[in-house]
Amino acid sequence: MISVVIPVFNEENGIQENIKEIIKYLPKEYEVVLVDDGSKDSTWKKVSELCEENHQILGVRFSRNFGKEAALMAGISHASGDAVILMDSDLQHPPEYIPEMIQKWQEGYKIVETVKKSRGKESIFYKMSAGLFYNTLKKLSGLDMANSSDYKLLDRSVVDKIKNFKEGQLFFRGLVQWVGFERYVMEIDVHERKTGKSKFRFKSLMKLALNAITSFSSSLLYITAVLGTVFFVCAVILGIQTIYNKVVGVSETGFTTVILLQLIIGSLVMFCLAIIGIYVGKIYEEVKQRPQFIVSEVKNKK
Ligand code: UDP
Ligand code: MG
Repeated sequence: MISVVIPVFNEENGIQENIKEIIKYLPKEYEVVLVDDGSKDSTWKKVSELCEENHQILGVRFSRNFGKEAALMAGISHASGDAVILMDSDLQHPPEYIPEMIQKWQEGYKIVETVKKSRGKESIFYKMSAGLFYNTLKKLSGLDMANSSDYKLLDRSVVDKIKNFKEGQLFFRGLVQWVGFERYVMEIDVHERKTGKSKFRFKSLMKLALNAITSFSSSLLYITAVLGTVFFVCAVILGIQTIYNKVVGVSETGFTTVILLQLIIGSLVMFCLAIIGIYVGKIYEEVKQRPQFIVSEVKNKK
């Protein structure tokens, strides 16, 4: 059976038509999991109607808006298919690709991912911020996700791994990248949104970006270590110069002590912060309780 997980948030216009359209591309044995991410309009009513008409549709309702990442997580934990497809409700992820995704999965790929051929009609500002975000993320965490999208198929074995992740604030796309497994990458054309507006505002995108970067890298914490080193080198140079001035007798009385004290205290504080930063980084890695490795297969197991 194939499960399709779709997060929905304030999508009263078009949700029913969109879901029916998506179902056209599904095999006979399917299940659609609609996760209502705390919509304020009549979305839940529409979802309930769908569930009544079609018992292969499962509705899950959040008590308030917890965000798309959480909705995806809830969706996969309610899905029972052998493969789970994740997609948006606005048909921007074209359902035409579903049969091909399923075929690739049957060929043995555990993850079928999609990347956008073009980013569609987006403002220059949005394109630039997306570029900046993906570059920073790649530099800091090594995850290369430019143009990646949330439209993907996951095998049951992958879903079971991701379901057991304990970290509370997660960046779903990053996790799927992180778990590994054989993956097939499909290039897709994204469509324009037919009804309604994008549900992501600048603030929530910033939050998502910051969360993504801090979830996959502790590099920001190490900035103090770098600053400390730079500061220390400057301090040594300045210190030598100050002592030299004192020795040759061109400095004001008492001034040397003040400068040296400033330098020593400054670099000492930076160093201590760096040490604390490194430990906090380690604690952070540990509390996430992410598995140390993921085994995809074992041969000749006794
Ligand atoms: N969505 C959600 N919770 C949110 C924001 C969005 O579940 O807080 C859903 C939304 O209903 C849609 C999908 O996530 O199915 C993608 O949202 P949208 O199309 O607004 O994002 P964009 O296409 O602009 O990235
Ligand atoms: Mg959209």
